[in-house]
Amino acid sequence: MMNKTAFITGASAGIGEATAKLLAQNGFDLILAARRKDRLDKLCSELSEQFGVKTQACIFDIRNKEEVANAIDQLPAWCQKIDVLVNNAGLASGLSTIDKGDLNDWETMIDTNVKGLLYVTRKISPSMLERGHGHVVNIASIAGKEVYANGNVYCSTKFAVDALNKAMRIEFSSAHVRVTGIYPGAVETEFSIVRFHGDEARAKKIYEGFDSLLAHDIADAILYAITRPTHVNINELIIMPTAQPVPGIIHRKES
Ligand code: NAP
Repeated sequence: MMNKTAFITGASAGIGEATAKLLAQNGFDLILAARRKDRLDKLCSELSEQFGVKTQACIFDIRNKEEVANAIDQLPAWCQKIDVLVNNAGLASGLSTIDKGDLNDWETMIDTNVKGLLYVTRKISPSMLERGHGHVVNIASIAGKEVYANGNVYCSTKFAVDALNKAMRIEFSSAHVRVTGIYPGAVETEFSIVRFHGDEARAKKIYEGFDSLLAHDIADAILYAITRPTHVNINELIIMPTAQPVPGIIHRKES
């Protein structure tokens, strides 16, 4: 039997990288997308060597629709039939009230989390609908369900992902294409380093004193959703650290 093929955006770090590893371990051929070519090339060779799956790096800045379209058009033939699309690339940039917000941060988040997700989905979903087969997994966030202090624009982008997840399900289900939304709470990745523009000390504090989620926990949920029988659609999974019941509360241990 042929392996299934998964296309994962944001595969050079964090949740995307962990998902690539777990899917390779489970026999998926992989197309791994991000901007950092060196990281993707290394991951591709490691995974094909370790698990004997096909891998292909796909380099683009997801905010640039021409780059996205060209990179996907140039993929080799085996990459044309994608079974699973994991729309994972995304970021938070900054954490401040709207009156003090940085317009560049806002544009980066909107362009990456909303427009970028749409550019990739627009390229890959038509072939799924034509074949009457496929699964789109959208990585939203608990920030797409509940707004937290100073999260304003990031939360808005993830509420948009929540809306797009629902919209895709309405539009794709008649062609038997499944659509799943994943809504994680705090996961320790490069996320906070990116949010605080490279301030690693500030980012580290976010995860101190409690057991945050690990990227593998989210990869595990993605694997669960995509390995159900085809008549089962996991609409949504909200996954939180036990110590974080809602975005604004984290129970930290005394140090
Ligand atoms: P991460 O470790 O910072 O990884 C983000 C990934 O997105 C990287 O591979 C990055 O690759 C890619 N990316 C960012 N901007 C891009 C661009 N312009 N073009 C192409 N790729 C881009 O963060 P993560 O925590 O794994 O985040 C993955 C997803 O989970 C995001 O959508 C995030 O919003 C969501 N999420 C995270 C958390 C959390 O607490 N960590 C919680 C809920 C939801 P390059 O830099 O190489 O391009």
